[in-house]
Amino acid sequence: MESKEKKLLLDVEQGKECIVYSVKGQGGFRHRVMEMGFVRGERVKVIKNAPFHDPIEFKIMQSHVSLRRTEAAHIEVVDVESLTDDEKYAFQGTISEDASSNSKSYTDSLDKTITVALVGNPNCGKTSLFNHATGLHEHVGNYSGVTVSSKTGTFYHKGYTINLVDLPGTYSITEYSPEELYVREYITEQHPDMILNVVDTGNLARNMFLTTQLIDMNVRMVMALNMYDVLERTGSKLDIDQLEKIIGFPCVPTIAKTGEGITHVLDHIVNIHEEKETLLKHIHINYGTSIEKEIEKIKPLIASHNEIAVDYPFRYIILKLLEGDKHTEEFVKKSFPDYEPIRKQVEESREAIAMTYDEDIASVITNAKYGFIRGALNETLEWKEGVQNDLEYKADRILTHKWLGFPFLLLFLFLMFEATFQLGAYPQGWIESLVSLICDGVKSVMPEGMLADLIVDGIIAGVGGVIVFLPNILILFFFIAILEDTGYMARAAFIMDRVMHKVGLHGKSFIPMLSGFGCAVPAIMATRTLENPKDRIITMMAIPFMSCSARLPVYLLLVSAFFSEKQGLMLFLIYLIGIFFAILTALLLKKTKFKNNSEEFVMELPPYRIPTWRSVLIHMWDKAVQYLKKMGTVILLASIILWALNYFPSASPELDEIDAKIAQVDEGSDEYAELTLLRSSVQSENSYIGSIGKFIAPVFKPLGFDWKTSVSILTGLAAKEIVVSSMGILYQADGEADEESEKLVTALQNVQYQDGTHVFTPVVAFSLILFILLCSPCIAAVTALAKESTAKWAAFAVCYTTLVAWIVSFAFYQIANLIS
Ligand code: GDP
Ligand code: MG
Repeated sequence: MESKEKKLLLDVEQGKECIVYSVKGQGGFRHRVMEMGFVRGERVKVIKNAPFHDPIEFKIMQSHVSLRRTEAAHIEVVDVESLTDDEKYAFQGTISEDASSNSKSYTDSLDKTITVALVGNPNCGKTSLFNHATGLHEHVGNYSGVTVSSKTGTFYHKGYTINLVDLPGTYSITEYSPEELYVREYITEQHPDMILNVVDTGNLARNMFLTTQLIDMNVRMVMALNMYDVLERTGSKLDIDQLEKIIGFPCVPTIAKTGEGITHVLDHIVNIHEEKETLLKHIHINYGTSIEKEIEKIKPLIASHNEIAVDYPFRYIILKLLEGDKHTEEFVKKSFPDYEPIRKQVEESREAIAMTYDEDIASVITNAKYGFIRGALNETLEWKEGVQNDLEYKADRILTHKWLGFPFLLLFLFLMFEATFQLGAYPQGWIESLVSLICDGVKSVMPEGMLADLIVDGIIAGVGGVIVFLPNILILFFFIAILEDTGYMARAAFIMDRVMHKVGLHGKSFIPMLSGFGCAVPAIMATRTLENPKDRIITMMAIPFMSCSARLPVYLLLVSAFFSEKQGLMLFLIYLIGIFFAILTALLLKKTKFKNNSEEFVMELPPYRIPTWRSVLIHMWDKAVQYLKKMGTVILLASIILWALNYFPSASPELDEIDAKIAQVDEGSDEYAELTLLRSSVQSENSYIGSIGKFIAPVFKPLGFDWKTSVSILTGLAAKEIVVSSMGILYQADGEADEESEKLVTALQNVQYQDGTHVFTPVVAFSLILFILLCSPCIAAVTALAKESTAKWAAFAVCYTTLVAWIVSFAFYQIANLIS
């Protein structure tokens, strides 16, 4: 051992291989790195540096992982030549036990309902399997963090009702991230009847690390050897029978993408439930004489409490205590009246183990687990390092290239927005024609009066003005789904980390932030993939500036009305401004509230995958349904309320006067048109909404908005699309055009103050765009913020964003007016 020349992983040249010797650094970081496979004796290859030199991509086991330079400096490596078998961590075999002795069975086998929890690494195909088994449509994606909470689906198999639970993906079950805690608590507290451990067969070694922890927890299990097609394509061979014998539970090859093998998995689940499964035996991983001896010493102290062992197997508790797991310590302290002797024994044992090994105990146990996996795979897996694997990463030669990576990213984003606008225009036109057709239809069959007014000016103008944007939103989500499903999102994080890190964010924040373009609610939820709570807060505060798709209709309306020449470019500019303020916010928080915050950037780069139509369509379908639901509920309601506020009070002496005049002139004459126009504006002004608008108008006056716009902004708090509906209702009455949205466009272009000046000029329009872009997120997003952080932070976000919006619009409007 002494002869080995140790150096840092950071100093290894690009393209070279070396062997991991040890991982230094703090608990959380070390844990994260080790669960990704950086354990003693493992071969690691330096693939490349990111475009800005940082982070660095490595290949470890069968996966690609990126680390920041500062992190690579914590890993000690030795040359490949000096590789010798480290006997301490050699495969020690397993200790098998009679299945009945300590195995957990919470339900009796006559129960006709089986609850099965899906547990596995991110990206191993859990959700695909879930969708196929349950016939439900959950969104799958080729990057971690798509599933942030659990989903349950129910179906029937061989006379049993099976509740399948899709849990978030984790690399291990410890206490270092919300997902891990979630999964852990689900298993120990909800007691699913069985665990379906989904593993990526193309990367068995890393995936089985989680399996070893499940084995420690002593739960009944079936393993789905998913992505079996990938293994087969490389020409590798896996001896499944032998693997089953070693780990003691059934293993079934599956291809979750097509659904192959799932019935087989379910058969095993039923068999185990009926206690007919012959394969099932309970095994322990042998952690070596030193640790096993200490486990035996602690066991009698814990075993005195049998009722606790029902929920938590001894071995699991003891191992966690030895690892120094805070949650388990708390639990044992609470559950055992005589905690002191246990604590003392654990202390002694830890010291004894530390004498044998030169590493901390958590690392020793992790190494032993990987020792077990290596041993098991040595006996069962004949892995061919195929062309396949290289092919799956081939696109990275361009997409994460030193010079080309960044331009490609910008190009993708630009294309995305161009397509959203240009392609979206066609179906948008069709919907518009349909809406105005319905409008005319209603007008022709219904007698004039309040009801017709409500339907045409309230419901159709409100909902219709928003529904036309459905195609644009679908196209945007189509692109986001493609970026997610191909695996490009993780590359974006890889490319962007240096920049993101500079502004106080994590490369992984890029993914939630990019989702923020879709909708802030899932984006805020997606911050759960960030392990550090401070990073989460910073990201959540920045997300509202990532212009969500609900704001898009407002831009589309104003851009096509006042900047029709350069629509794509304008849209791009708007989004860039949003990004700029997101960055500024992150920087400010980083410099003030969250000084000295740094988080590890350990991240997996999944192989590129061609997305299935099914998955992309599910994603789009989801969004369409969400959008339509919003349309049918919030927006419909808001439109009706708004219409009513605008319609009542409907009588005043001033109006009677105008009505009398109208009665005297010919319908169709110029005077008639003028008078009706005057009538509707007087009506609006005298209505409740007019009072509200005029009350708040002074606040918005310096930004260039009239009271109608002020009201529209206010209504946007419920949902941003409503801004367009409100403008539709408030300005619509003044316009005369065929198409529904054209009508609004011309109305906005023509609407005048009483002195004859235009209400909207390009300057006012852009001031409004800025305000809508930056102002407070909608109620749904604020609720999500409060749920994911604290009510205080949510309140801060509302005040802060609104203030920023006001200042920016004010500055723009005033300066633009000075210049012109
Ligand atoms: P989860 O993160 O575990 O829920 O994984 P997903 O179900 O979201 O799947 C991740 C990616 O792997 C998606 O792109 C799937 O289409 C793909 N995938 C899932 N199962 C298989 C499989 O058996 N074979 C192959 N080749 N790809 C799969
Ligand atoms: Mg999933």
